[in-house]
Amino acid sequence: MEKNDMCKKDKMNRRNFLKIVGISTVAATAGVCGCAPKKEADASGNAASEVPEGKMTCRNFPPSPDRVSLLGYGCMRWPTLPSPAGDGNVIDQEEVNRLVDYAIGHGVNYFDTAPVYVQGWSERSTGMALKRHPREKYFIATKMSNFDRSDFKSSVEMYHDSMKHLQVDYIDYYLLHSLGSSGKRSFKVRFLDNGLLDYLLKEREAGRIRHLGWSFHGSKEEFDFILSFHEKVHWDFIQIQLNYSDWKYATGNNVNADYLYAEISRRNIPMVIMEPLLGGRLSKLPEHIFSRLKARNPESSVASWAFRFAGTLPMVLTVLSGMTYMEHLQDNIRTYSPLVPLTAEENRFLLDTALLMREYPTVPCNDCKYCMPCPYGIDIPGVLLHYNKCVNEGNIPQSRMDKNYAEARRAFLVGYDRSVPKLRQADHCVGCGQCNPHCPQSIDIPKELRRIDAYAEKLKQETL
Ligand code: SF4
Ligand code: SF4
Repeated sequence: MEKNDMCKKDKMNRRNFLKIVGISTVAATAGVCGCAPKKEADASGNAASEVPEGKMTCRNFPPSPDRVSLLGYGCMRWPTLPSPAGDGNVIDQEEVNRLVDYAIGHGVNYFDTAPVYVQGWSERSTGMALKRHPREKYFIATKMSNFDRSDFKSSVEMYHDSMKHLQVDYIDYYLLHSLGSSGKRSFKVRFLDNGLLDYLLKEREAGRIRHLGWSFHGSKEEFDFILSFHEKVHWDFIQIQLNYSDWKYATGNNVNADYLYAEISRRNIPMVIMEPLLGGRLSKLPEHIFSRLKARNPESSVASWAFRFAGTLPMVLTVLSGMTYMEHLQDNIRTYSPLVPLTAEENRFLLDTALLMREYPTVPCNDCKYCMPCPYGIDIPGVLLHYNKCVNEGNIPQSRMDKNYAEARRAFLVGYDRSVPKLRQADHCVGCGQCNPHCPQSIDIPKELRRIDAYAEKLKQETL
């Protein structure tokens, strides 16, 4: 457990910093800025209770000497501010520093970033915050996100840029990013044919990469193919999407997590978990499911059920959460300080809950923003998340005869305009399809936007 006394306040002048990390596009992270945390903090039901220090559950998988905190910090949703020039958003570095200091002070020591997070600024921001702490106090995970330019030279440049931006001379956990998203070809083209995997293996031998692994979104066949390289390559860890909904009911291009977990465990490879909350959907639940969880454990947040589910699995090294707000960080620290493993009965209760959730046809958007920016300015996750919220809250009337029609119609339309500026709504999508290949959840984005727009139009015209 690290102590607070190592967390010194950054003396950097904010204005200077903003010049360095200005994000010039309006589309950059407006969705992040627009989310008020209050409701979720209230929803936790325990925002004011004490946050334990020195009690974080840690995991160790020999022969690696690392004792890794069960809560890992996902650095893809750093807080932002409107830029002083009024041309978009910038990372709020003072707040990032505060969050990182607090996390380290409460035993979190795993920080997961990537060259593509926060429109390319996450590594710099994370590096600046961590640089203020002794290097041996934290583990850095970053990734080879060579999706568009996968030739050897550009990819190696990306690897060196990561070290430069993070201000480190070795990386603790290095991942081949999002394998499987574009088929088997992605692994072959991005890492095999160009000789990059051989290069990274040499970097591991040289100690500049301490652990080499990969993150995955794709089909069973792709997963099996990449996993089969274990005998030759020896994967040190694998990052998968796992939560109590995806355990048996994965959607889109994802594989059920029970299969992934069993196959990886069989080879004794530790796992890093992403999407424990399914992009926030397991904390923003339909009312009666929310009440069901709260009734079982009124003192704990509904999110804590999802974190306990992932953390209870013994082959899990760390569970990532992209915590933008202090309230979320504190809630997750409480859950894992220490972890109270699920009982077999609680596990069954959660799997039953997952079954109930299937009655709510939300779009499987996890707000990762990989599809952004849209060249036409559409706030893709903003539109999809608003739709999901309305599904969960029962504000998707099917006909004018519905009992709550007027109220639900108003909630949908007024909420839409509040959540997404008119010029960035679904009706401005031209259907170019540029966003689709970037979506790890394999959502047909223009199709969903067309559907939501047609629905909004019917509500406006009262022609349901
Ligand atoms: S299909 Fe629509 S949302 Fe996607 S990039 Fe094109 S305009 Fe933007
Ligand atoms: S639509 Fe896909 S890529 Fe875009 S934010 Fe949602 S999950 Fe991520």
